[in-house]
Amino acid sequence: MAQFDYDLFVIGAGSGGVRASRVAAAHGAKVAVAEEYRVGGTCVIRGCVPKKLLIYGAHFAEDLHDARRFGWDVPECSFDWTVLRDNVLAEVDRLNKAYTSTLDSHGVEVLLERATVSGPNEVTLASGRKVSAGKILIATGARPAVPQCPGHEHGITSNEVFHLDHLPGRVLIAGAGYIANEFAGIFNELGSKVTLINRSDVILRGYDEQIRDRLLQISMTKGIDFRFHAEFKGIEKQADGSLKVGMTGHDDIEVDLVLFATGRVPNTEGLGLAEAGVTLDDKGAVVVGDDNRSSVDSIFAVGDVTNRVQLTPVAIREGQAFADSEFGDKPTLVDYGCIPAAVFSHPPIAGVGMTESQAKQKYGSVKVYTSDFRPMKNVLAGRNERALYKMICEPNSGKVLGLHMIGPDSPEILQAAAVAVKAGLHKDAFDQTVALHPSMAEELVLMK
Ligand code: NDP
Repeated sequence: MAQFDYDLFVIGAGSGGVRASRVAAAHGAKVAVAEEYRVGGTCVIRGCVPKKLLIYGAHFAEDLHDARRFGWDVPECSFDWTVLRDNVLAEVDRLNKAYTSTLDSHGVEVLLERATVSGPNEVTLASGRKVSAGKILIATGARPAVPQCPGHEHGITSNEVFHLDHLPGRVLIAGAGYIANEFAGIFNELGSKVTLINRSDVILRGYDEQIRDRLLQISMTKGIDFRFHAEFKGIEKQADGSLKVGMTGHDDIEVDLVLFATGRVPNTEGLGLAEAGVTLDDKGAVVVGDDNRSSVDSIFAVGDVTNRVQLTPVAIREGQAFADSEFGDKPTLVDYGCIPAAVFSHPPIAGVGMTESQAKQKYGSVKVYTSDFRPMKNVLAGRNERALYKMICEPNSGKVLGLHMIGPDSPEILQAAAVAVKAGLHKDAFDQTVALHPSMAEELVLMK
């Protein structure tokens, strides 16, 4: 008789948990996954996917405007938020079903209820049922962090933003990271008045300075207001439903919606991990080794709950590596070098490898090549919006250390170029490649 009910019990059916579950099952393991909300997790249900669809929807505002310069007779257009919202939510439903059926077809048992750890090899379900497992994988992700100012309950987070009844006229976004800049772009394009406030004077900390500055300048030109060195004092709901927001260093502001985009915290509260002997760090993240194993031999963790790199493709790789190592007899370590990332702002930013300042810190001096240009389409559209590409190279060998860009389609372009950076290619290899003309991407092989 089997020693445990399952070989693997996964808590959380997001990107990391789903990948680990189905790969472990494909390797022959008996697997169950518990999910308290919806199969698919943050990325599919209330993150990357619906966000990207809103970005597409929002971009039509500029495209319809610019189309006139390309000869199209575009009548006055109006926008209906509920149509976009409902179509996006329908697509989320479709993906939710697709993820569930992938798990089913791999023989993974899906339990739609909360599960907590009640021992090194035991999980307790919300129904009270206890199950045992040879290994337990924590893949519970992260949730939005909300600053605890008076009236914070009047604000929403990225969890709720996809379900708004109507498009707010005036939006205040707190934070200046990924979510803040992406939603500032979305709401601004759709016609809301957007104010973004941040406690520091830096947007998108970690991205290349010049690229960030370019986004700030373009966003301001598009009409987004930025308030820096502003900390929340409080939010007051007024009789007419509007929100009066007080902050340090600036006047109060009246808005219709406050969106908190102030980082995400690992979902470990109440999971029973500390009680089971699992070490958590000061942010509540599960501390794991390179093999995704926690301080308890039978308990592993992947994805945002480990607070290593909060990106979907990284969680997927960690889930795959865990399943291959533990159930496929194929020990695999995730390579965290040169992970490309993008911010789907208007225009988007993308980068891979070291920024100029990171490279200078490591190498002393570096060679920086740039291309600062106005994309052809923007020229004809009369849109004074310049793209900027930056290549950071080792001074002697010319090895490309980093590539950073802002401009239309930059995430699409960077994904291909990231292969070259990851492969350790040198500037010469770019120079020797014939340009594909006319394109924006050709600037990558023409940089001076
Ligand atoms: P980010 O970490 O990107 O940015 C958080 C922002 O909130 C920063 O501007 C930070 O300011 C500010 N902040 C943090 N704590 C507080 C606080 N207590 N009070 C006031 N301000 C605060 O977080 P996001 O919420 O935007 O996104 C979470 C994560 O999700 C990202 O780190 C990313 O990994 C992932 N994500 C990725 C996307 C993508 O790949 N395109 C899209 C969306 C999310 P300061 O700079 O001063 O620290």
